[in-house]
Amino acid sequence: MTHKGGPIRGKMLALLIIALVVGGGIFLVVRDKEGPVLTLIPDSPYVSLRPLVLELKDEQSGLRSLEISAIQKEKEITLLARDYPERPRHGSETFSLKQAPLAEGPFILRILAKDGSFLGGKGTLREYSLNFDRTPPVISVLSRTHNVRQGGSAVVVFSLSEQAAVAGVRVGERKFPAFKQPSGNYFCFFGFPFEIKKDTFQPLVFAEDLAGNQVEGGFYFNIRVEKQRQDRINISDQFLNAKMPQFKNDFPDAKNPLEVFLKVNQVLRVKNRQMLFDYGAKSVSEPLWQGAFLRQPGATMATFGDLRSYYYQGRKIDSQTHLGVDIASVAQSPIKAANSGRVIFAGFFGIYGSCVIVDHGLGLQTLYGHLTRIDVSEGQEVKKNVLLGTSGATGMAGGDHLHFGIILSGLPVDPIEWWDPNWVKNNIEDKIGVNNPPERKK
Ligand SMILES: [Zn+2]
Repeated sequence: MTHKGGPIRGKMLALLIIALVVGGGIFLVVRDKEGPVLTLIPDSPYVSLRPLVLELKDEQSGLRSLEISAIQKEKEITLLARDYPERPRHGSETFSLKQAPLAEGPFILRILAKDGSFLGGKGTLREYSLNFDRTPPVISVLSRTHNVRQGGSAVVVFSLSEQAAVAGVRVGERKFPAFKQPSGNYFCFFGFPFEIKKDTFQPLVFAEDLAGNQVEGGFYFNIRVEKQRQDRINISDQFLNAKMPQFKNDFPDAKNPLEVFLKVNQVLRVKNRQMLFDYGAKSVSEPLWQGAFLRQPGATMATFGDLRSYYYQGRKIDSQTHLGVDIASVAQSPIKAANSGRVIFAGFFGIYGSCVIVDHGLGLQTLYGHLTRIDVSEGQEVKKNVLLGTSGATGMAGGDHLHFGIILSGLPVDPIEWWDPNWVKNNIEDKIGVNNPPERKK
């Protein structure tokens, strides 16, 4: 009896093992219900000739195969086919429509990815309705005679043949955003930065459509080069002891007031200029100002673009370009808005001390530095000549004065042009028609 039951028990055991293995297999198949997870980059309905990236992921059974094709007018074109014998869990494939004989317009991008699970794998099928666009926008420059002084401002008006994702003017590495108007035209203020040599100054209009097709185009311009005024500033211990404590917390490692001064003048100055770009990016797309800008009454203590050399105990310790106009009259004089706009910043702002920045739209902003008192708050609409605060000597100021700045999308420019009604009319208003603005949306 006992030796008869042996083989039966053995068979039962074998069956049990097979059942476990098959059951386990089924369990695996059942458990991995999902095919690979697909991410198409960029995630946009518009596609150009630029490469697309597909990221694949299957944490459980790995990747088995991938097929990418384009379908247009019932014709299917294979763009990419891959097998993954190693069953990797992650994959990334770059492909483009370059080789595909696709016509511009709608098509279906079909992606089938299979994982490494049983019975040929679980598949993920995705079909994207996309638009193929390989033609960059056509730029038409509408404004004429762009006169640009070094340190000065200009505006260019242009139209585009199709909707743009981004557009503006590029000067070297610097990009000035254009603002689309209700008419469909774009206005773009740009400047001629002091750090760019006249031979290399070449402003270009750029545009990129929704599919990512890019274009750049030149336009006619005349330049005038300015000689930088030299200015010598002696830094006294009295100045350092009076002014540096307000910055001590920014640079706790600085050993003495002179070190704090150098950090403020070199590190904080750069940081503050960088922040001007962030404020510039918040500018509204309609002009809020009208006519020339008001100049604060008082004597000019420093002009725009002055090359300042700083001396301490007869030794040159630093040099910087002054990017505003310093105006002084009596202490704590009323400081007024140079034009209508909206307060975009009111508070302590590094080297500028207590400071107000007013946004006038289209990337154009004014800055009022070294104030004693601020009488406006962020978000407040202000009319031309409204009181913003009183002058002072907060921040990096030796005595009571106003540091007045005009900024184009983060770039400080010479205010002197914006104070001149003729310059504003001939170089700005006649080009953008600000005296005859299109109906504003309420
Ligand atoms: Zn100044």
